Amino acid sequence: MSKAIIFKFGGASVKDAQSVKNLASILLNRLQNPFLIVVSAMGKSTNLLEEILKAKFSLVDYSSNIAILKEQHLQICRELFAPDHLIFAKIENTFLQLERELAIKVADISYDEYYDQIVCYGELLSTKIVQEYLCSQQIFCIWQDAREIISTDNRHRVAQVNWEKTALNCRKQLLPSLSKFPIITQGFIGRADNGKSTTLGREGSDFTAAILANCLDARSVTIWKDVPGVLNADPKLFPDTVLFPKLAYREAAEMTYYGASVIHPKTIKPLANKNIPLMVKSFINPDEKGTLITDCEPQQTVPTFVQKGDQILVTFRVKDFTFVNEARIHQIYAVLESLKIRVNLMQTSAISISLCLDKEFLKVEKLMQALKTHFEIRYNEDLKLLTVLHPQQEVISRMEEGKEILLEQKTRNTFQIVFREVSTAGA
Ligand code: ASP
Ligand code: MG
Repeated sequence: MSKAIIFKFGGASVKDAQSVKNLASILLNRLQNPFLIVVSAMGKSTNLLEEILKAKFSLVDYSSNIAILKEQHLQICRELFAPDHLIFAKIENTFLQLERELAIKVADISYDEYYDQIVCYGELLSTKIVQEYLCSQQIFCIWQDAREIISTDNRHRVAQVNWEKTALNCRKQLLPSLSKFPIITQGFIGRADNGKSTTLGREGSDFTAAILANCLDARSVTIWKDVPGVLNADPKLFPDTVLFPKLAYREAAEMTYYGASVIHPKTIKPLANKNIPLMVKSFINPDEKGTLITDCEPQQTVPTFVQKGDQILVTFRVKDFTFVNEARIHQIYAVLESLKIRVNLMQTSAISISLCLDKEFLKVEKLMQALKTHFEIRYNEDLKLLTVLHPQQEVISRMEEGKEILLEQKTRNTFQIVFREVSTAGA
């Protein structure tokens, strides 16, 4: 059998009935054998499921949010199917299952475990609708529960893949069907050995496509986006963006590391390890070339901008007139490691260590709690981190304008600032 082609469609590409029709039209001319389609939850439905869960844990009534979620999916179905279509019973059934999961008491299960049991419904719903619609358009495909394939540990919300088991599942369960029909499955979700649903982290559907590609030795992966491909900046934040027609795996991985949201950071490695090309293309203009990511030589020199919001800058100052040394850094990093907090930027001085971190409420509190006897701790919240790759002096000066800069760092190839926007209101 030849090697499989994998297409991944994110939430924006299935956000309404028109988008689902567009997805079908993209597939129509591009289907080959064997073929695998990975789909995320529709639009912002994962956020809505998160809201339902938060309400459940705050003991607040969540029935109106369930009703909204259901109505959103039913409305899409009404536009895609005849009123007597089987999909309506499937949606009812899936919501009954969701309600049954939500009957579990919050005292009996941790928040993270509960999260995974609930949030996976976004992907289960979207793939059922897309599969039925494709079949109705004579694109016959098989619905596969990704939890039967993606085997993980039980670290809920950040599950780690069991590669051996997943590869075995791919060979046993996916390959035989793939030779007959295209398969459609969910991104983002997996299953632990104890049978519980798990998730791979927000926006994890790209990663699912890469895991399956690696395990199946796929021919290529294409991620369909609402942007023309990988750009040198997020067009929502920066004007005059430039498209990269080609990128090396290393360049793409570096951009995701600094926070470029076009591809999930874990996507590149499983593909690069097997030398599987990754295409990022526009579902709005599917005939345009987009970006091709392979093991080519890194060649980009165009300044590339990556901005991350919700940052917190924490400064640890030694209390006893000793200087910062390896032991002090180690002390802080040991706590960071145990709390699984990633450092986006670090700077040391004679008596202090400053860290720029994603603001994850409880975790940062725990970090400060654990270290407050050893250090005097100060912090600033609501900051942004801007990283410029291949910076030029003129670009740097422009980036510094209109910002209150709390920390700045420059190496040969990167320029980074932690800042807050200076408000000009009332000036
Ligand atoms: N539906 C999940 C999320 O919104 C996964 C994904 O979209 O990739 O985070
Ligand atoms: Mg998404």
